[in-house]
Amino acid sequence: MDEGTASRARGIALQNALEHGSTSAGIVISKLLGEVPSLRSRAGEIAPAVARIVAEVNAMPGSARRAELESSHAGRLEAPRERESRGPLPPLAGAERGRVVTRFPPEPNGYPHIGHAKAAVINTEYAKMYGGECILRMDDTNPEAERLEYYAAINVGLEWLGLEFARKKNTSDDMRELLSRGRALIEAGGAYVCTCKREEISRGRRAMRACACSARGAADHGERWEKMASSYRAGAAIVRFRGDMASQNTAMRDPALFRIIDARHPLLGAEHRVWPSYDFAVAVEDSLDGVTHAFRSKEYELRGELYSSLLAAMDMREPQMAVFSRLDFEGMPVSKRELRPLIEGGAVSWYDDPRLPTLAGMRRRGIAPQAIRKFVLSLGFTRADTTAPFGSLEAANRAEIDASCPRLHMVRRAREARVSGLPRSVTLQNHPSGGLGERSVALGDGTLLLDAGDADGAGALWLIGIGNVALERDGDGLRGEYVNDDMSSGNARVQWVARDGAVAITVAVPGPLMVGGRYDEGSLREEAGTVEAAWAALPEGQAVQLVRYGYCRKDAPRQAVRAHG
Ligand SMILES: [Zn+2]
Repeated sequence: MDEGTASRARGIALQNALEHGSTSAGIVISKLLGEVPSLRSRAGEIAPAVARIVAEVNAMPGSARRAELESSHAGRLEAPRERESRGPLPPLAGAERGRVVTRFPPEPNGYPHIGHAKAAVINTEYAKMYGGECILRMDDTNPEAERLEYYAAINVGLEWLGLEFARKKNTSDDMRELLSRGRALIEAGGAYVCTCKREEISRGRRAMRACACSARGAADHGERWEKMASSYRAGAAIVRFRGDMASQNTAMRDPALFRIIDARHPLLGAEHRVWPSYDFAVAVEDSLDGVTHAFRSKEYELRGELYSSLLAAMDMREPQMAVFSRLDFEGMPVSKRELRPLIEGGAVSWYDDPRLPTLAGMRRRGIAPQAIRKFVLSLGFTRADTTAPFGSLEAANRAEIDASCPRLHMVRRAREARVSGLPRSVTLQNHPSGGLGERSVALGDGTLLLDAGDADGAGALWLIGIGNVALERDGDGLRGEYVNDDMSSGNARVQWVARDGAVAITVAVPGPLMVGGRYDEGSLREEAGTVEAAWAALPEGQAVQLVRYGYCRKDAPRQAVRAHG
């Protein structure tokens, strides 16, 4: 092999090994022939030299591979980066590789659901795409709504999704900073303390007219600010941004920036009673945290103008803002307003009910976290709100879990069949691909359980893994004999369960929780089934495919949840 070809092969091997951890002669040769088609007739001749190069490269540490690529094959270093940045999401305006900072800012006021998953996936994915960082920030400045268990549930849910954050923090960590920036804004005349009644404030906003408080001097408002922390009653005063009372955007009509809340905060207790609004906290935190690209869902789109104006008034750096759409599933509400009465009334057991699109609910149902990630990315970065049928996530899940799902047999209404001529045991594949090994099933005295729907009226059946049997009625059950293993018999292929060791289970079958906007009483059915003995050895949480029934998750020793067909 000439020197030029050897160098080219070495470059390919280094790049491939750096990207995948190791390389092989087959890969290097095929890439080499792709780059230099004239070598195709000499593939046999170059193979030994390529094999030597591959062995050398595989023996090198990653740092040495990178160093040699940088010094001798710099052009090949760019390839994986380009591929990486061509992710499923569109490029970000003004994004610089290595400098992108995004954030996911959930409020710990409820259990995380598919909407949180979407926002978290998009933010972490963009950080990954640009070699940047994503911050997880609990937006916790409304102590009336926030509870410790929600912080924990959000952390657990994100961990389950497999999302990584460079930094985790709480907005409440920065309360002193937020309060001092609020005070400075008042002193600078950019905000004022309003003691008008709630109805007067609403009336003024509708009439586009400023209230009397607005005309007072900054010193006066400084004093009133002090009183908010001490003597004013909750609700008696708020801090308002000096926006634009005549703006067509109602969010700009002197919105609230701080209010008095006397509830105990889950982390800070009674340390503060003046709390920033969502608008103020998010804008200041994004700027302080070094966020370069902030995403918000479309429902908050009108608040973008306020975000910019607030940061401008405080002379703070403004991140790029982009809007993405909300994601809902048909018939599966996520709002607490809709869910709480169902949970309190006992219609829904808890937030991990498999009919709910909460992360805990989807996990119980047997939806794989990778399927959720891929599903969210497959929707892309659309601006139109998405109400997807749950079936679209089911399809993603099926593709994700199928290869790792063992097949097991279950019959629903069991009919006993005594079959003569059977071996003492048979071997069944755990997956048609052969990739999950096999299991031996003892047939005992040949008493099998068949599904009544298959057994009734059928004279001959193909029992999966056994062969053809001929059957006839015998009292309540059936009896018959083994015929042969001729697969061309045309008999219906059915699953069966050996009676010895069979396990009776209950399968919870979730359907849409709401139909036509109303709770559907029949949305969670329970079906009885009998599964083969191998079920008992499966760990809880294992996903299986019950043959001719559907994908299920083992929820408890005698309980399954059906994910989908
Ligand atoms: Zn006022």
